[in-house]
Parts: sequence; structure tokens; C-alpha cells
Amino acid sequence: MTISQEKLDAQALETLRQYFGYEDFRPGQGALIHAILEGRDVLGVMPTGSGKSLCYQIPSLLLHGLTIVISPLISLMKDQVDGANEIGIPAAFINGSQSIDEQEDVFAAANSGRVRLLYVAPERLETQRFVNFATHADIALVAVDEAHCVSQWGQDFRSSYLGIGDFIDALPDRPTLAAFTATATERVRRDIIQMLRLRDPEVVVTGFDRTNLYFDVLKLGTRDKANWIARYVAGHADESGIIYCATRKQTEELADTINALVPQLRAASGAGTTPPSSPIAVAYHAGLPPAQRERAQRDFVTDAVPLVVATNAFGMGIDKSNVRYVIHHNMPESIEAYYQEAGRAGRDGEPSRCTLLWNESDIVTRRRLLDNGGANERLTEDEQEQVRRWKRHLLDAMVGYCRTTACLHRYMTRYFGEDGDASSGAHCVGGCVNCDSTFSTTDVSRIARTISRCVHDLGQTYGSGKIVAVLRGSQAKDVLERGLDHAPTFGALADVPQSTVRDVLNQMVSDGFLTITEGRLPIVMFGARAAETIDPAFHYEMKSITRPKPASSPCPSIPAVE
Ligand code: ADP
Repeated sequence: MTISQEKLDAQALETLRQYFGYEDFRPGQGALIHAILEGRDVLGVMPTGSGKSLCYQIPSLLLHGLTIVISPLISLMKDQVDGANEIGIPAAFINGSQSIDEQEDVFAAANSGRVRLLYVAPERLETQRFVNFATHADIALVAVDEAHCVSQWGQDFRSSYLGIGDFIDALPDRPTLAAFTATATERVRRDIIQMLRLRDPEVVVTGFDRTNLYFDVLKLGTRDKANWIARYVAGHADESGIIYCATRKQTEELADTINALVPQLRAASGAGTTPPSSPIAVAYHAGLPPAQRERAQRDFVTDAVPLVVATNAFGMGIDKSNVRYVIHHNMPESIEAYYQEAGRAGRDGEPSRCTLLWNESDIVTRRRLLDNGGANERLTEDEQEQVRRWKRHLLDAMVGYCRTTACLHRYMTRYFGEDGDASSGAHCVGGCVNCDSTFSTTDVSRIARTISRCVHDLGQTYGSGKIVAVLRGSQAKDVLERGLDHAPTFGALADVPQSTVRDVLNQMVSDGFLTITEGRLPIVMFGARAAETIDPAFHYEMKSITRPKPASSPCPSIPAVE
């Protein structure tokens, strides 16, 4: 290291202490800041809450020239700018809500050095006014927040991110480029480097094992999920939590259920009631009017309501450190999405719990959504098929997380390609339900084979309800009226509980032995692996888990939930 580099590192540390009041850098921060100050492009892959913003805020104070931050959410910019100004970093943003005069004022302040950190949304880079400004400005650094949005292989692809590379190339002096993301697999990382045209970047990947998080996975029937959640919330009334749902409608329904049920549960247990004027849960999704969304977010962040029930629209950039639990009402579409959402628990480092509720029909729904997903006009048919295949691969990894009996921490860190050393010891750091449980596997080969035969008997023309009814020998009127009692497999699984037949059928769908067609009356048909079930050597298993005894509920008469 040369003298001047050492001096820059010392200045960076001094800035950290002076402006932020922290003693030391967290893992990754020092290396990233060092590279940026040297004029090297960087890619920082660090979990949510690990301190990515500081990696461009500190250089913005030390570099000669302006730092532009490209950030996807206009709604967050004001908070980010306020936060920076509060600690003494002169920051501003440019967005469409400002008048032309206001924008010109900001440009003038940036040109004169009165603003050192300028936040913009990627769409802004395409406007002539901004391009004019940027062409004449002295830009030292462009930081791209949530850089995975540039990748078609990730969850949150934004076509406006594709313009960033051209924007940079069109500048008379190429600034240093710093890309940051919380979640990126190897494939997405490569894509970020290529699409943003990073030059020989310093890539830093840190700390994906969140050791203060307890990971829990629980298979529950759709109808049981709301009750389970209400009991959990009632038992953790003093804690802050986020519940993620798959649809907007679910968020509103579940928030209503919680607000109705939790006071009853608590009153019944003598644990006290919440005054009716203050709801326990608020719903949050992109379809709500902006004022209502902002209020929900504010109430949650300020602890006025303990719980937000949200779609994945909630959370990007929300800085609330004391979230004690995150519950997923449905299985997300990828480990990235899950990790990012679950990772909003415990940002203060205190023990927190991440629970994923799932069932086979979640998987079936996800697969169906994926196969019938909207087309992206920028891509050819071939490319769309490639993207679909990749997304199937992401989904398979998520399904694997639900089904694995291995340590959930290790599953995560391996997925993110982080060196497994930190969590490869004998015990699971932070804890997870798999390390605390015992598992047994049941051989369900006969059941699976019989289900497959029944689908054949019925000519691949009936839904799962009829198939289960026939297999169990139901005397229901419509089974008899259609003559289904003459099917060779009628009553063949009368000795097996209905719920087991249903579970095995659903698992066969999610494993590709069967498929369910799209439409008003979904029909069970053979899937790509159907032929395997007639192989005499066919062997099929279902796992069952004996979970640890739940810790006793803080409210003794509220049934503790596992
Ligand atoms: P990210 O963008 O990675 O989600 P933030 O930049 O919002 O994370 O930082 C999360 C929190 O961590 C903030 O409250 C920030 O002030 C704090 N933080 C960042 N760096 C440090 C550090 N070196 N020491 C202590 N706290 C830090």
C-alpha cells in the first residue's frame, strides 16, 4: 500500500467516526471504500442492513467531484436525503415532482459543490435535462443501489436499469462505478458486471449467514395458516413483526383476521386487550392510495402499530431495526426474495425469528404463475424461454428449502455461494427448526403409484377432488352419477387418510409426476416424470417432522404455537 492509500484509508476511518459516530468498519465496508477511493469500480454484495449506503456516502465526502446515487424507489429518496443531511452530508434528490426551477436549483448546488450526494431514479438518466447537467458536471462516482434490478435473471428486473451503462459511456469523463446489492447469485453477479459494464471491479461478498436469526419452516394447510399466525401474534404482542402475503387481497383479509382474533385470544387468556381504536395490524400493498401506504409505513416504523401485513412491495430500504419476527404466509418465488424479506428481521442483531409457512398448493400456484407469466417485449421467444427455465431453477431451490431436512442456515449460505466455513461447524449458528427436530420418512410408493393409475383410469379429465374421492371409494352423488365407482382404482386407497392422499398427490404435482392445468376447472394430468411411476423399482417418500416442543407462550392460556 502506498503512503497516499494509507492516508486515504485513515481519512475514511476518520470520516466514519466524525460523521457517523461509529468506531470501526463492518466487514466489507473498508475494502469497498478503499477500492472506490483508488478509482476502481466495485461490486458490493452485502445483506440488507449490513451498511451498504455508507460505502458510497463516505467516498462522497472524500472524492473531488459529485457522487450520483441511482436508487430505484422515489419514495425512499427523501428519507435517504434527510438521513444524509442530518449527519452533515450535503445531499439532495432530483425527481419528477419538482418544478423545473427547483431542479435547476439542485443542479446549481451540485455544480458548486454545495451538494455532494445526488440521488436520482434510473428513469431520470433518460431525460435530456439531466443528461445536459451530467455532461457538464464533475462527477467522481456513480453508485447503483439495488443493482440486481439490472438483471433479467433476478426477481426485480427494471428495464430502466439497462440504460445506466449507456448513460455512463456518454459522459465525457468516465466516473468510478460502484454497484451494490443485497442478494445476488453468481449468475446475477456476472450479469451486473456485464450490464453495468463495470471495469475489472473489486467484488466483495460478505456475511450472508445472519447468526441472530432463527429459521423456521412449517407446512400448514391453507386454512390453518391464518389461525396459526393469529396465535403467534397474540403470543408476541409486544414485538414488532412483518407478515408477507402473496396477494394484495390476502394482506387485507389477514390484517382483518388478526385485528379481530388477536384481542379475543388475549382477552380469553387474561393477557389484556388492545384498545379497539388502535389496530394491531395494518395492510400494505402497492394498490393502496399513497397517503394510506405512507401512513402504514410511518405507523410501523414509529411503533404505533406493531405489525404490518404486506405484499413484497413493502420493505425495500425500510430502516427499522427492531423487527422481531417475519412470517411468510406463502412460499416466495426464490431464495433471494425470501432471504431479502426474512432478513428484515433482527437488523439490530438481537435474536429474531423467520418463519416460512408453506404447502404443496403454494408450489403448484407458483409453478403455474411462472409457466403463464407475462411476456417481456424486449426479449425474443427463445430468451423468454431461457428466463422461464432460470426462474424454474430459482423456484426449485426455494422448494428445496421447504423440503430439506438439513440445516437451514447452511442451505442459505451455500445458495449464495458464500464460503460455508462460518456455518459448517457441528452446530447451527442462530438456530433453525431442522437442527432442532427429528425427521422420519414414510414410503408412499404404493399411494403414488395408485394415484397415477387413477389419473389414467379417469382419462386425465378430472380435478384432484374427484381423484381423491374415487381413490377413497366415496359414495358422493356426483361420483356415483358419473359412474366413477366402476373405475378399477375406486376405493383402492380407502385405507389411507384423505389428507395423506391429497398431500401425496400435491407432492407428485410439485415433483413433476403430475401437472394441473390452468383454467376454471383445473384438471390433473400426467407430468413429465409420469412414466417413472410405472417402473417396478419406483420408490417415493414423504418426510414428516417431529418439531421441538414450543417454548411456552408468554400468555399462558394462548395455545403456544410451534
Ligand atoms: P443497507 O443499505 O446495507 O441495507 P444501511 O446502509 O441502511 O444498510 O445500514 C444499516 C444500518 O447499519 C444503519 O443504521 C447504519 O447506520 C448502520 N451501520 C452502517 N455501518 C456501520 C458501522 N460500520 N458500524 C455500526 N453501524 C453501522
